[in-house]
Amino acid sequence: MKVIVFDIHGFECDSLKKHLGKNHDITFVDAKLSEHTAELAKGFDAAVVFIHDTVSSAVLGSLKQIGIRFLVTRSAGFNHIDLEAAKQLGLRVANVPKYSPYAVAEHAVALMLVLNRKIIRAHHRLMDLNFSLNGLVGFDMHGKTVGIIGVGNIGRITARILCGFGCKILCYDIKPDDSLKKECSVNFTTLDEIYHNSDIITLHAPLNSQTRYMINKENISKMKKGVMLINTSRGGLVNTRDVIAAIKSGQIGYLGLDVYEEENDLFFEDHSEDILQDDVIARLMTFPNVLITSHQAFLTMEAIDNIARTTAENLDCFETDKKCENAL
Ligand code: NAD
Repeated sequence: MKVIVFDIHGFECDSLKKHLGKNHDITFVDAKLSEHTAELAKGFDAAVVFIHDTVSSAVLGSLKQIGIRFLVTRSAGFNHIDLEAAKQLGLRVANVPKYSPYAVAEHAVALMLVLNRKIIRAHHRLMDLNFSLNGLVGFDMHGKTVGIIGVGNIGRITARILCGFGCKILCYDIKPDDSLKKECSVNFTTLDEIYHNSDIITLHAPLNSQTRYMINKENISKMKKGVMLINTSRGGLVNTRDVIAAIKSGQIGYLGLDVYEEENDLFFEDHSEDILQDDVIARLMTFPNVLITSHQAFLTMEAIDNIARTTAENLDCFETDKKCENAL
């Protein structure tokens, strides 16, 4: 079938060509899907989108009108798609639920280690032939308490890795799965216990109405002074302005972000010749104890290949009217 792939990036072209190209006639476009670009999908049967595409009810209505029948997102998260509207329009939607939880969990731990051991500051110093160690003191991960909020595919791999460091793991999930206890030593507890007792808090829950701004002024005040906060989940879980206030007061001692609530117009693009208009991220970037990556936690060779393969499988299922296990 004829497939249009929106918001294409260099890092994924070859994998998508390899897997989607087997059974489908594919067209890549740089443009993100939005109300202004939906028209590009005219003449196609399916649209493949990514996390920064806007798949609102209006956009879905336009896609349906011009003949799109299937929508596949090459991501695990699907908070950018109005699923209810898709259902009402009879558009079938699928995602890639588990392409590599290792990629994201390992990146979350990388953020922890780089922040803790001040690796970036040390590297910059060395470039200036400054071999002093002052200001570079970190802490042992061993024995520290790490709170994991959201213990699904990624959260549980994060727990396993941190168990290897000898951390004490506290977990919170709305559907706690005790089977993790067979793999490593963790305790499921309440959110408040996590806020009160954790040296490091790492977020792995989806973005929805329950989790939006769960990290806010009130909950930050319950945390240990100097806590390390890591978010590789979705930017909307964190109220960035409240976090900035907490960094300024020292309540948050380290912040590692792979996602940012206003990332859509920034991340994945080269803005090196632009004047940055976002004053919130600009302020975040001035802190020495903040580390930001631009939504790259998933970016491993294995994950990219798995995303392309599963996206192709989802399209194959839809085309042949088979049951699609990743249908949303
Ligand atoms: P998952 O569905 O496997 O796990 C999510 C877990 O969160 C589930 O166990 C669920 O029960 C739990 N949960 C739901 N609501 C909750 C709440 N209110 N409080 C606490 N727990 C709650 O998802 P996953 O694949 O592990 O992904 C986790 C997050 O990582 C998602 O937000 C996803 O969008 C994000 N993600 C980010 C990247 C990246 O590159 N940065 C890549 C993939 C996924």
